[in-house]
Amino acid sequence: MLNSKTIFLYLQNIKKTIDNNKDEIEKLDQEIGDGDHIFNIQRGIKESLNLQDELSSHTPDEVFKKIGMKIMTTVGGSSGALFATLLIGMSKKFNGELSDQQNIAGMFSEGVEAMKNRGKADIGEKTMLDVFIPVSNELQKLSYQDDTKKLAEKIKNIAKKGMLSTKDLIATKGRASFLGERAKGHIDPGARSSQLAIEAICNTILNK
Ligand code: ADP
Ligand code: MG
Repeated sequence: MLNSKTIFLYLQNIKKTIDNNKDEIEKLDQEIGDGDHIFNIQRGIKESLNLQDELSSHTPDEVFKKIGMKIMTTVGGSSGALFATLLIGMSKKFNGELSDQQNIAGMFSEGVEAMKNRGKADIGEKTMLDVFIPVSNELQKLSYQDDTKKLAEKIKNIAKKGMLSTKDLIATKGRASFLGERAKGHIDPGARSSQLAIEAICNTILNK
C-alpha cells in the first residue's frame, strides 16, 4: 500500500543502501565527474527524511511534491534539480483510484518524462536515465502484475542491467561528456545511485 508511511520506509532503506555503498559512489564521480555526487545524494535523503513527521498524514502526491520541493531548494548539482523534477513530476500524475501498480507506473512515467525534458537527455547518454527509462517502460508493461514480489524482482534486474549498460557508453550530457572516450569503462555515478535506490525499494518489497 502506497502511503506516507511506506514512502518513508523506502527512504530509510534507500539511506541504508546508499550509506553502505558510499565509497563506491564517491569514487565513480571522482573518476568521471567532480566527486560531489554522494554528498548531493546523502544531503537529499537527509532533507527528505527530516520531513517524515510533518508529512505523516499527507497523501502520496503531497509527500512526493514536498520532498521534491525540499530537494530542489537544498540539494546542489545536476542530480539535485533532476531528482526534484522527477518527484514533482510524479506527484502530478497521482491517481488514488488506480491500483498501486498502475498508479506507480503512471506517476513514474510522468516523472521520468519531466526529467528528460529538464536535462534535455534521453537513453544512451550515460546518465541515470539509462536506469530510469527502462524501469519506467517495464513498470508500464507490468502495471497489471498483481504479484508485487515478481514485479520487484523484475524491476530490480532491469535497473541493474541499465546501470551496467552505462559502463561502455560515451557521455553526451553532464560533466562526464567533457571526457569523451575517456569516460568509457566507468559506470555513471548517477546511474549507480539511482539503481541502488531502486534496489532498496525492491528489496523492501521482497523481504516483506
Ligand atoms: P554534477 O554533475 O552537477 O556534479 P552530481 O554529481 O550530483 O551533479 O550528479 C551527476 C549525475 O547526474 C551524473 O552521473 C548523471 O547520472 C546525472 N546527469 C547529469 N546530467 C544529466 C542530464 N542532463 N540528464 C540526466 N541525468 C544527468
Ligand atoms: Mg558531481
